[in-house]
Amino acid sequence: MVIISKVDILAIGAHPDDVETGAGGLLSKFIKLGFTAGIVDLTAGEMATNGNPAERRREALRATEIMGLPWRKCLGIPDRGIQVNRHNIMLLVQVIRESRPKLILCPYWEERHPDHVNACQLVKEAYFDAGLRKIESNWAPFRPQQIWYYFLSRAGEPKLIVDITDVYNIKKAALAAHVTQFGRQTGRWDTFLNTGPGSLMALVESRDRYFGSLIGCMYGEGFTMDTPLAIKNPVTLLEVKE
Ligand SMILES: [Zn+2]
Repeated sequence: MVIISKVDILAIGAHPDDVETGAGGLLSKFIKLGFTAGIVDLTAGEMATNGNPAERRREALRATEIMGLPWRKCLGIPDRGIQVNRHNIMLLVQVIRESRPKLILCPYWEERHPDHVNACQLVKEAYFDAGLRKIESNWAPFRPQQIWYYFLSRAGEPKLIVDITDVYNIKKAALAAHVTQFGRQTGRWDTFLNTGPGSLMALVESRDRYFGSLIGCMYGEGFTMDTPLAIKNPVTLLEVKE
């Protein structure tokens, strides 16, 4: 039984390694700055070529510990069967209302993997419904201030890039915790995730490096959004370049 506490950021992924891949640096940075964050994995990732749900849950919890997050919940929706239906929307509405985050992170809407596309749509539905008074649940209505979309195997033009250079070792360690996915031990199948110069790991590291170079640092994570980014204090934007 996972105890869900209130958090500043709720990061949602389709599979147990999605959040680390697209937003592991941002989450580690928020934790380092004294904020709190939790993760929801919509599925246990049981359709992956390598690893079973128990192994993947252990790896996910290890990655959560490395990033310093208090909790991580798996909703148990079938892998390759993420449907945008009432049942699944309500599962997520409950977690949003219970954890009351300021910010939600979820996969970008254009993706190679259909589960990531459906995860994005499901989050948007739940985000909206979480704020509706007439949708009843055990928790009071609540809608977070915003959603930022992180990139997995596809990326759009980022609307903001966060310098994650100082926490890059944490992101890499959190990814490496997913041994069944990114490791190459004997007995594992070669996959897009673990093999070759175009593997997901190579893609992620080169993209983080590229986004970093766009803002003059070593590593950056890019995010986009579908609403304007609200800036209460414009002075904070002057701190970007040192
Ligand atoms: Zn995934």
